[in-house]
Amino acid sequence: MRLIIFTLLIGFLSGLNSTSAQTANWLPELTETWEPVPETVLSASFPNHPSDAILLLDETYQDKWEDADKWNFENGVLTVAPGTGGIRTTGTYASLQLYMEWRIPENVDGEDQRRGNSGIFLQELYEVQILDSYKNRTYTNGQAGSVYKQHPPLVNASLPPGQWQSYHIIFTAPVFMEDGKLARPAYFTVFHNGVLIQNHAEVKGPTIYTGLPQYEKHPYKQPIFIQGSRHEISFRNMWIREI
Ligand code: MG
Repeated sequence: MRLIIFTLLIGFLSGLNSTSAQTANWLPELTETWEPVPETVLSASFPNHPSDAILLLDETYQDKWEDADKWNFENGVLTVAPGTGGIRTTGTYASLQLYMEWRIPENVDGEDQRRGNSGIFLQELYEVQILDSYKNRTYTNGQAGSVYKQHPPLVNASLPPGQWQSYHIIFTAPVFMEDGKLARPAYFTVFHNGVLIQNHAEVKGPTIYTGLPQYEKHPYKQPIFIQGSRHEISFRNMWIREI
């Protein structure tokens, strides 16, 4: 301990003896950044949306989703009509922060992947799995919160079917070069019911069902897609903020 204090003291004194140019480098002001000033955004009380969020399930929902009519929308809750396929946003997006709540019906049947399977696809290609993973075993990189077939969730934060659950997703969009080569892969950070389950997970390509993922150049912005289901899965309070 004495040796550490002595070493620090010597370091401090030798610093005092350094040239004025070196001393100037120590000025804390040199590493302060003042511009640009971050825009003021009101968070409201979580999980209500921040003031600059784009709401995807508000009363203007019809304008924000293609084929919006095929699912049931009532009092801010969107429910899958089984067998009708998925729906995609009319808007296109790249990197974003996304919050959503989803609920698998209490009377869900089936097991493994056939139990409340849906999914939120960023850019229509990169899926965070939605599934009843409460006491329902399946392959780990296909359970709820997985980056499908690529990254299992760090932990299983699933609630029983019938309860509302939340995903809070940070998605970094991939970037391609002119010639189609990948310049930067996509990344997912995901919280499930407030628990970190994906931490800057590198996406290896589209989250396909069979075969190995491989990137193919696509537009920088693409729609968000919610996968259809054979169960009446519901969604509410969904918003995004573009990064
Ligand atoms: Mg799925």
